[in-house]
Amino acid sequence: MIHDFTYLKPGTLKEALSMLADHKDECKIICGGQSLLIVMRQGLLVTDYLIDIKGLNELSYINYDEKEGFKIGATTTHRTIETSEMIEQKCPVLVAVERKLASVQVRNWGTIGGNLAHGDSSGDLAPTLIALDTKIKLSSAKGSRTIPLEEFYTDLFETALNKDELVVEIQIPPLRPKTATAYKKFNLIENDQAIVGVAAAVTIDQKGTCKDARLVLSNAGVTPIRAKNAEKVLIGKKLADALLVKAGEAASGDSEPVSDIHASEEYRRHLVKVLTKRMVKQAWNQAAHS
Ligand SMILES: Cc1cc2nc3c(=O)[nH]c(=O)nc-3n(C[C@H](O)[C@H](O)[C@H](O)COP(=O)(O)OP(=O)(O)OC[C@H]3O[C@@H](n4cnc5c(N)ncnc54)[C@H](O)[C@@H]3O)c2cc1C
Repeated sequence: MIHDFTYLKPGTLKEALSMLADHKDECKIICGGQSLLIVMRQGLLVTDYLIDIKGLNELSYINYDEKEGFKIGATTTHRTIETSEMIEQKCPVLVAVERKLASVQVRNWGTIGGNLAHGDSSGDLAPTLIALDTKIKLSSAKGSRTIPLEEFYTDLFETALNKDELVVEIQIPPLRPKTATAYKKFNLIENDQAIVGVAAAVTIDQKGTCKDARLVLSNAGVTPIRAKNAEKVLIGKKLADALLVKAGEAASGDSEPVSDIHASEEYRRHLVKVLTKRMVKQAWNQAAHS
């Protein structure tokens, strides 16, 4: 049952930030409602004010610049990202991730800002975007700050958002030369949430040696996790089966999974191992052919 609340619908970002400042201790933001309404219906979240930002068209955009990369507004829907020719061309991994995220119905309503702000460690976008070295812009009536997305997640369903802040923009830098990114989630039902997911971004030099690697795990801990020991295994090395095995083992060691109704801790560690090997190989081969 959903408890009573006062519904507020700002017409502009400025108005939304002012409402948020006025009601910060007793309000909740709603955008597409795809995650929020579930917890409200379950009675897990009760709020006095609901501020609906879905209609803030000024936050619905995808801009691209060769120097700065992508700037995506927070209320941009998954479907808009999935069908963007510019994203398909410059950042194909994002389109591939979106195609496997829920159903078209959910993607038509759900937004990139809502997905990231929800803070679900099984979300697909955060690990992929962290592998892409993304930043997130947060605004309040007092001003704005931009932080690495990697620093945004603090605990299970907890983020660095202050009570008076909104996610306003996602900033993805241009892909470096000879770099590719791949993401795969393991699930039992097609397009369902990840039981475990692995995103791998690999940069190689002209001789095929790994210059840089960013590996990020989903649903293998309370937040998206950088598999930093696995990254160290790869940097400075050439692609080889034995190297992939070592990286998979290191990533499994970097993970902090728990057992739940979907999978045991041991099985999740095994999945991290397997998916890391596959995603590193895929990204590496794509980088070699880029
Ligand atoms: C059936 C189903 C399947 C799904 N499968 C997947 C999946 O496979 N992979 C995956 O990653 N996700 C999946 N999801 C989650 C889905 O992607 C998210 O529900 C959706 O993206 C959230 O966006 P929203 O705009 O609907 O957010 P809302 O539900 O409106 O809000 C979610 C949370 O974010 C906050 N919020 C929203 N926008 C902002 C903002 N701009 N600034 C600050 N806080 C904000 C809200 O207060 C709330 O806490 C699934 C959801 C459903 C219902």
